[in-house]
Amino acid sequence: MTDRFPLPPGDWPEMEPGWVWLCGAGPGDPGLLTLHALNALSQADVIVYDALVDPRILDWARADAEQIYAGKRGGKPSSVQKDISLRLVDLARDGKRVLRLKGGDPFVFGRGGEEAQTLVQHGVNIRIIPGISAGIGGLAYSGIPVTHRDINQTVAFVTGHDQTGETPQSVDWQALAKAAQVIVIYMGVKHIGRISAELIAGGRDPEDPVAVVTDATTPRQKVLETRLATVEADIAASDLEPPAIICVGKAVLMRQVLDWQGLAGGEAPRNVDPLGRGRAAEEK
Ligand code: SAH
Repeated sequence: MTDRFPLPPGDWPEMEPGWVWLCGAGPGDPGLLTLHALNALSQADVIVYDALVDPRILDWARADAEQIYAGKRGGKPSSVQKDISLRLVDLARDGKRVLRLKGGDPFVFGRGGEEAQTLVQHGVNIRIIPGISAGIGGLAYSGIPVTHRDINQTVAFVTGHDQTGETPQSVDWQALAKAAQVIVIYMGVKHIGRISAELIAGGRDPEDPVAVVTDATTPRQKVLETRLATVEADIAASDLEPPAIICVGKAVLMRQVLDWQGLAGGEAPRNVDPLGRGRAAEEK
């Protein structure tokens, strides 16, 4: 261990040989990494990382650590997933200290639960390090709070894909239209036409605001603001590329006052009272 990254004083756990730590790398910005993740990066012999892990984060690994890319994008067959899980088992059995680094949070739409289960089934010791999920932190970087007292008491995190790459049949979009005031969709771009139509059929206002945030928290972050009725066409007409997080609901309006990156760049707030309350935010 030549070049351990300095951590604040504390009782940081040691990675033991033969263990696998499944760790969230956050949505992009390396500053959103947890200290446990940094601790793991400074110790791991092998790092198995996903497509959505920002390359700047890997720069913080031990210089002599082996880095293995396990990227797969857009709903590839589950055999690929099985190979990754079994590779982790093999590395652990070789006595390596293995860091499995996944985008966002490892247990949010990232198959982390399956990988962890396979490891335990093969007798491998694991530790889980949560991360900031794109559906919360990515939206925050675009100035959208996933909950706001005047807007929502519920928020639904949904995937627009299942293993087959189709819109999940298991999601009752029409019921969701009524049940969740704010809907945060991961992997939703491909099927947004179908999803938006179902939400409208379920009673959702076609004028409901929608934001599409791509490459959230990175220097390439882009935000498209639109409405449910027009989101499909607007994405098609844009140059937006995945990864994208889609937010449906009035939380999107808060961007008009909370686009903090725009404000930091010298823009004026578009509307300091986007919900039209006519009073200060903290007043009843
Ligand atoms: N475990 C991850 C999600 C993995 S699924 C998490 O907790 O964030 C991959 C999907 O996450 C992408 O298709 C996209 O919908 C979303 N995503 C991840 N990183 C993103 C980013 N930087 N910007 C926008 N969407 C992102």
